[in-house]
Amino acid sequence: MNETLRLGHIAGIRIGVNWTVLVIFSLILIGLSTVQFPALYEDLDVVAAWAAGTIAAITFFASLLAHELAHAIVARRNGLEVDGIVLWLFGGVAKLKGDAPDPQADLRIAGVGPLVSLVLGVGFGALAFLLAGLGVGGITIGILGWLALINVVLAIFNLIPAAPLDGGRILRAILWQIRGDRTSAAVTAAKAGRIFGFVLVGLGLAQVVFLPGLGGLWMVLIGWFVTAAAGAEEQQARVQDALGGLRVRDLMTPDPVTVRPDVTVASILDDYVLRNRFSSFPVVDDDDRPVGLITLNRIRALDPEQRAATYVGDVACDRDEVALTGPDESLTSVLPRLSSCEDGRAIVVQDGRVIGILSPTDISRMLQVADLWSPDRGGTDPRGPVTGSP
Ligand SMILES: [Zn+2]
Repeated sequence: MNETLRLGHIAGIRIGVNWTVLVIFSLILIGLSTVQFPALYEDLDVVAAWAAGTIAAITFFASLLAHELAHAIVARRNGLEVDGIVLWLFGGVAKLKGDAPDPQADLRIAGVGPLVSLVLGVGFGALAFLLAGLGVGGITIGILGWLALINVVLAIFNLIPAAPLDGGRILRAILWQIRGDRTSAAVTAAKAGRIFGFVLVGLGLAQVVFLPGLGGLWMVLIGWFVTAAAGAEEQQARVQDALGGLRVRDLMTPDPVTVRPDVTVASILDDYVLRNRFSSFPVVDDDDRPVGLITLNRIRALDPEQRAATYVGDVACDRDEVALTGPDESLTSVLPRLSSCEDGRAIVVQDGRVIGILSPTDISRMLQVADLWSPDRGGTDPRGPVTGSP
């Protein structure tokens, strides 16, 4: 989920919103201001209703942000890299890179989100009671009461043991602890997620058929999202398992053909591309140090008439756009960085010099082999035959 608008940083964590957050924000704002609050307080005028709706909706999104911030801060404390938080259609996402080092950390990172929502819910509820006791009435109590309820509902919904919900991650951590195998734990949590997603879709469809309103449609959407995300998580767990233990040097293409930034695109087409089977070339300086990467797709995007007048350095991905890796880095830690430059390649560097290139073809070939050797199909460990090759 990409951020459309960056809001800033809190505790060093980048906060952004995706435009779809406007949809859910508007639904909540309109629902509160035109239906719920006017129904609770009959003498509420239109301006007051919209003001109350706005305050409640903004505070709810702040609560959501606090939930995600808690995930992000605990993840960072447990050694994970945090790419930021994005609020979107279905709430918030804390983008974490990599996996928790152990089941306990996995549990802490997942559990703290619902805990924060629960604490906020109880806090808003207590404040409502306190103010009501002091004689404050009316819409203030209505706003606090709704915030208390929605945060508790959020905590409970997120605790359902189905990936990608927090409860699914808690289930994964517990199974990981019991079985000692993260992949099998993640696959079980993801399967639970798919089943839960289907149940939500079914319930939503039933609601669409038998009840008025659009609530059922919303449930179908959430169910569909949960099912898709759970399926992706299951696949990711299997991929990581297949790649586990593999290092970059096991899959890289060694000694790639390199080019200098000051040659023209036309000349590398004649001298390199047509004579080599490679489709990407690290761009290096006089000392063989990487300064970028040029791919066939980049060349193809260039007007053929411009090729003779354009230098490689002008069209190549810059060094800071290309993923650089070392031969001994594990594949699972490189994978999330591969998309940073186009075509998902990484340049393998040792002692500052280019020694290889890692391409999506190398990885997908490995995954196909791993799939053929998957224990599900009666094969043996995929790592044997692949790491054994030079
Ligand atoms: Zn959460």
